[in-house]
Amino acid sequence: MNDPRASPAQAWARLETGNRHWADGHLVHPDQDAARRERVAARQDPFATIVSCIDSRLPPETVFDQGIGDLFAVRTGAQTIDGLVTASIEYGPLENGTPLIVVVGHARCGAVTAAVHAIRSAERLPGHLDAIVQRLRPAYHKATGTTPATETSITPEEAAELIDQVVRAQILRTAYALAHDGPLAGLVSRRELGIVGAYYDLDTGLVTQLDAFGF
Ligand SMILES: [Zn+2]
Repeated sequence: MNDPRASPAQAWARLETGNRHWADGHLVHPDQDAARRERVAARQDPFATIVSCIDSRLPPETVFDQGIGDLFAVRTGAQTIDGLVTASIEYGPLENGTPLIVVVGHARCGAVTAAVHAIRSAERLPGHLDAIVQRLRPAYHKATGTTPATETSITPEEAAELIDQVVRAQILRTAYALAHDGPLAGLVSRRELGIVGAYYDLDTGLVTQLDAFGF
């Protein structure tokens, strides 16, 4: 059962508790049976919106130990957003009163890895993938600071560190952009909506908060 009046802090605490279950290897799997399916069939009331990468290793319901009807999930490569994606993210808070948005990026992100390679080599990725690269450019420049984009070769360790810094920069950028999005910003300023930027560690399974708005 979701409390429709849960505060952003209560919603975040529920996700933190579920994530500890996952990290500890003791999933409780709430709300994942036929009874729950029937209960939410007519009406849903998720308590959080998760904005995360498409990566196969971080399904939101699993890493936060939640179930059917608990979470809105919006997933794109490297949690990049544009107008259409933002509209889907707004749906929960604006239409459902959902009190929390969590932007989750993760270690060793394939989309960020490909984008960093494309930017440094000035190559285009196939198909429409270049759209993701363009969305990641600001995070790349934030992570590299004054370092020229196509500087001489770097070691694998330096590349891994750079990719991780771009992941973190992208998490912070996305959380900040949503917190200052017109219709969401008002809810954040009234503490009716919390927005958390968080990093997921593929090895430990732990989600760590990097930044937060509206608490
Ligand atoms: Zn990823």
